[in-house]
Amino acid sequence: MSHGPRIRQLDPIIAQRIAAGEVIDRPQAIVRELLDNAIDAGSTRIDVYIEDGGISSIKVIDDGSGMDREDLALCCRSHATSKISEVSDLYAIRTLGFRGEALASMAACSKMTIMSSPDREHTNTLTVTEGLIEDPVPGGYAKGTTIEVRDLFYSIPGRKNFLKSPQAEAAACKRVFIDKALAFPQIEFRFFSSGTLKLFLRKADALQRVIDAFPKKFDPVFFSSVHQQCGSFSLDLICSTTSLYRNDRSYIKIFVNDRRIDDYALMQAIGYGYADHLPGGCFPYCFAFITVDPELVDVNIHPAKREIKLRIAQEVHHQLVQTIKQHLYQESRSELRDSYTRQQAFTFSSESQKSRSPAVRTAYRPSSSQPAPSHREPVSDQWIKDAQAIFSPGPTPARESKQDVPVRDFSYLGQLFGVFLLVERDQELYLIDQHAAHEKIIYHELSTHPAKQQLLVPLSFSVSEATDRYLTLHADEYAASAVVLRKDPQQELTWEIMALPYYAKSIESEIVSFIQQHLGSAEEITRGLFASISCRAAVKEGDVLDELTAAELIERAFALEVPRCPHGRPIWTIITREELFKAVQRII
Ligand code: ADP
Ligand code: MG
Repeated sequence: MSHGPRIRQLDPIIAQRIAAGEVIDRPQAIVRELLDNAIDAGSTRIDVYIEDGGISSIKVIDDGSGMDREDLALCCRSHATSKISEVSDLYAIRTLGFRGEALASMAACSKMTIMSSPDREHTNTLTVTEGLIEDPVPGGYAKGTTIEVRDLFYSIPGRKNFLKSPQAEAAACKRVFIDKALAFPQIEFRFFSSGTLKLFLRKADALQRVIDAFPKKFDPVFFSSVHQQCGSFSLDLICSTTSLYRNDRSYIKIFVNDRRIDDYALMQAIGYGYADHLPGGCFPYCFAFITVDPELVDVNIHPAKREIKLRIAQEVHHQLVQTIKQHLYQESRSELRDSYTRQQAFTFSSESQKSRSPAVRTAYRPSSSQPAPSHREPVSDQWIKDAQAIFSPGPTPARESKQDVPVRDFSYLGQLFGVFLLVERDQELYLIDQHAAHEKIIYHELSTHPAKQQLLVPLSFSVSEATDRYLTLHADEYAASAVVLRKDPQQELTWEIMALPYYAKSIESEIVSFIQQHLGSAEEITRGLFASISCRAAVKEGDVLDELTAAELIERAFALEVPRCPHGRPIWTIITREELFKAVQRII
């Protein structure tokens, strides 16, 4: 009878090489582990040198605590660590390392020299060749610890074949170097590749560190830092303003307790925070440093520690969204505040005009270049008041006043290209995109008080099994968005719309196809639904607006907190008086 291979216990050296492969798969991993050790040793300055993308040599020099001869002799043994001693320590990790296997793994697959001094006077040197750890000998020079790892995988050619080009490996080393440096701005870092200094990061604060780490990319004016303390954790965000964005998530980086991790849900939370401010499919630059009580994190679930288990993940997710939303809201408020101050001054001057001529109180005026629409008769103030009351469904303080027609601080000049409403306001010319503005006004109303309308006859539609299951769980969320759904009790895979938002009156079929196609989170549903309703219900390009409607639209657009459409496009652009004068070289 033939026999398969017998089970044998592996030779310890082979076993160690297999284990090494798990931690050390490419030069980047060595840079990561050596930096972790240098940081854990309390260094204030760390230099990294790589040659051939780290394949022929990686050297890390630190000025940290160093090791005495005894520790040096042990540090390359398997499971040798000074960072934990009991199982319970695993649940309160405050250091980057704790497994005691990084140096042992490197020793198994490369040639290594470690020079270390615990007191800056006596240095010992340890060498590892052919997997053999020699006894440390006095001599060498180090202010803390200097580790050099040479000829990576010389003993495991199979693994060496998997390495990419030296350029690609060097780029990967630099990426991990930056990830480490971002989390420790209080440490000075230098990165050399093939003898050239590629990055010199002086001690800085977190924001400056981000700017320094990407010198070609970032201008500080596009970034701000936000701190939020939330009970058992805190958030420190370095985030871009809404005018800087990209179409992927590659610059959304999450750090938990100074360790960069891949956490899609938290990256998504940052996307949600920005969603109202950026065009669809666009993402910010955001570096989120989350500090959590170590007892709430399990960092021991991934070989490269790129994933963690966070016991308060939900809460962190929620706070991340809220903190960003609030920050962007305040940012857009302070942008508006400037223009508001100017607006005050202007209102004051138009008040003085008012006493001279009560009739010009509605400050929009007919454009001389555009003939008035033929149906327009001369109208009384009372007619305007009534018309405005009918036009505007939501109460606003200005319109509630029974005494007076609102004093507007702008003049409506007319429409351009069937798209822009031209408005003069405080020495500036606003070109307001009529569709985008109206869309956002409706969107805002839907999100703040979505008025429902019951349908006389419920609208019945069929759904797939997936949608049926989804709606069974999420009909309440639609109801919160004023779309009231009911499962048809008689017919399989059939649902009915009982009520819809007021603005969705004539676009029922679009709503149906939205419901049939979208199975996202509550937030995605609301956003997507409101965005498509407001897009359909808003005035279009080419629609001619009478002056009253235009002025009303402009006034409400100016009252928006965030002057961007639901897709994140700006609603208007501004040309200042100064810019116009400059354009024709006129002296101001
Ligand atoms: P870990 O970091 O998980 O403890 P390592 O194999 O990376 O395991 O390192 C083993 C031990 O060697 C560490 O616990 C630490 O005591 C010591 N060590 C390693 N690098 C340094 C360094 N740069 N400075 C001081 N001590 C170090
Ligand atoms: Mg370590």
